[in-house]
Amino acid sequence: MITLNDKYNSIVNRLFMENDRRQNLNPNLVSVTDLIGSLKRLSFKKRVEFDYEIGDVYKAFLGTAIHSYLEQLLSDADGIDTEFKISAQIEDIQLRGVVDAINHKEKQILDYKTTSVYKYIFADYTSFEKQLNLYRYMLYLTDSKYADYSLNAILFFTDYSAKEATRKEDYPQLPIVEIEVPTWDFNKTAQYIDGRIKLYKQINALDNTALGSLDICSPEEKMMRNGTGKYAVIKKGRKTAVRVFDNQQEAEYYAGKDPAYEVEYRAPKANCVDYCPVSKLGLCKFAELEKEKEK
Ligand code: SF4
Repeated sequence: MITLNDKYNSIVNRLFMENDRRQNLNPNLVSVTDLIGSLKRLSFKKRVEFDYEIGDVYKAFLGTAIHSYLEQLLSDADGIDTEFKISAQIEDIQLRGVVDAINHKEKQILDYKTTSVYKYIFADYTSFEKQLNLYRYMLYLTDSKYADYSLNAILFFTDYSAKEATRKEDYPQLPIVEIEVPTWDFNKTAQYIDGRIKLYKQINALDNTALGSLDICSPEEKMMRNGTGKYAVIKKGRKTAVRVFDNQQEAEYYAGKDPAYEVEYRAPKANCVDYCPVSKLGLCKFAELEKEKEK
């Protein structure tokens, strides 16, 4: 007899299989989303099979489900291209992308994002801006009309709460929001792409140990939290803080001259350690050092 659990496991297994299928090991085929992210992760992605967890697979599944549904919904809409494949050859690297939708009537290049409300509240759109500007540039290489197109991201919040929307002013009032991101000058975009590809090729020449030791990821790629760090007032002999401050002077003032207290600097936390597949495989030296600090 097939139990609900068996059914569940078979769906989960299929999602895992589909996810594994997507990892392309050819170093000369690079997606736009990979090029704008951690190049160290990208370089490892081309040499070792990543081990994804259910959280990663589920997130990818939600994104794909929304994209497929919208593609179906807009399939016969006038003047709208959906899931539009683009590519550009830069030396021996083929850069690829899939534009979610192009609205020719409104002259918009659109991307759907399943994301957290946090992104919206903090207007944390740097990665959307890079991705969409690379798409616009690649489209422009095939047709100059795209110079007039705007860049719009449609955000689908995965953690939306209607209750929070009534309580907080800066909370989005709808679970789906459209934002426009700034367009870049095409020279700037070309330079950005060239720089990223050069760097990718340089680090690709390193062996696994040298690549793992390279501390090259940006604070954004490392998903740094805590800003520039915090100052914790600790009672000597204990681990937990009595109070945590943003600056050293305030922490020292609070601790006063009492010898029972000391001030401890807490470096910004790199959340990539918990999410990046390179960290999960134990291949990133930076992540290993961060894990040591947590012990
Ligand atoms: S774990 Fe962090 S530092 Fe290491 S490759 Fe991944 S993003 Fe970069």
